[in-house]
Amino acid sequence: MPSSHPIREAFRAPIRHALGPNQIVEFADGLLAVDESGRIAACDAYDRLFPRLPGDCVIHDYTNFWITPGFIDCHVHLPQLDCRNKNGLTLLDWLAKYIYPAETKFADPHVVRNMAERFYDELLKHGITTAAIYSTIHYEATEIAFQFAKEKGLRAIIGQVLMDQNAPQSLLKSHLQLLNETEKLIAKWHGCDNRLFYAVTPRFALTCSKTLLDEAGKLALEAKVYFQTHLAETRQEWQQAKEMHSFKSYAGFYESRHALSSRSLFAHCIYLEDCDFKILSDYHASVAHCPTSNVFLKSGTMPIEKVETYGLHFGLGTDVGAGPTFSMQEIIGCACEVHPKEMMNREKGFYLATLGGAEALSLAHQIGNFVEGKWADFCLFDNPNFEGRAKKVFVAGQCIWKP
Ligand SMILES: [Zn+2]
Repeated sequence: MPSSHPIREAFRAPIRHALGPNQIVEFADGLLAVDESGRIAACDAYDRLFPRLPGDCVIHDYTNFWITPGFIDCHVHLPQLDCRNKNGLTLLDWLAKYIYPAETKFADPHVVRNMAERFYDELLKHGITTAAIYSTIHYEATEIAFQFAKEKGLRAIIGQVLMDQNAPQSLLKSHLQLLNETEKLIAKWHGCDNRLFYAVTPRFALTCSKTLLDEAGKLALEAKVYFQTHLAETRQEWQQAKEMHSFKSYAGFYESRHALSSRSLFAHCIYLEDCDFKILSDYHASVAHCPTSNVFLKSGTMPIEKVETYGLHFGLGTDVGAGPTFSMQEIIGCACEVHPKEMMNREKGFYLATLGGAEALSLAHQIGNFVEGKWADFCLFDNPNFEGRAKKVFVAGQCIWKP
């Protein structure tokens, strides 16, 4: 075995992982060997790999289960856990009626702790081991979001939401206060345990002044952290943002704010033009595609062909609470329904929920499949389609969740 750490254990089960969009690898009787540091030492058919393992390696027999890499949720809102299924409205009215009142309650740390506990359990129950998460504008709530992620042991990219205009007064802060708090959170959490990372997180262009976005973009770039926001989710939002900030190109607007890099993650990207996709592509920015949310709010359909033509990385997002489910299989099913079948199928969906998501989050060198040297993040399901609840969830080779 080429791994520099001793191999401590191996997991025997049917195994499935993706090496690319059209490259699914399956072992009907597979073996996943994990080294002492929690990284993948090897993944192969049991018969081939077993004879090469050291004699003292513990073999866990999970032959009644199926192993998949942990799923990756590229876009989700922690404070919106209990806001699902509030239907009948489109984005801007939905935000005003349901979301802003729910996020206002995050001023109370008791509310946040209760929800954070349940939120992370939902992610893990559904086999999600890595997520890009929005908190609220509250500093303490964001601290709690990080603390719980650390305790639970999953990987997370988290950001305090930035808003300084065009939302209820209780959810606005000055840009100076927001940036100051963001800097403190970056210093404390970015890179923590090699599992937690910071994302500078303006909600979207309508709730942010140009000054705030300017400073936010620069901060993300200088601190080398992620930048995440919602972009061109609905036609109405696109139109209002254009009038408010008088830009020609929506992506160009973020380019001028210095907010584009390979660590920039834009949710939705439904109403973008070719020039916008070109700009995002020039900076290797990524897209979080949230089909169940887009259907739920009747926002539209992400132009998957354009995203691929311009070579943008994109992964899947649950976008809870506009998205009604944490189930990646339901999200893949929805993607198959809304996109032409030559652009999307279940196999590609599986890739997007694992390696594709890792690529979108610039983490493909660490996670996303069972290539040797990556972290052993994986889940056991009791069915070959990975539907329903996970039976066990592992991050870096350690079981962090079971029913
Ligand atoms: Zn969202």
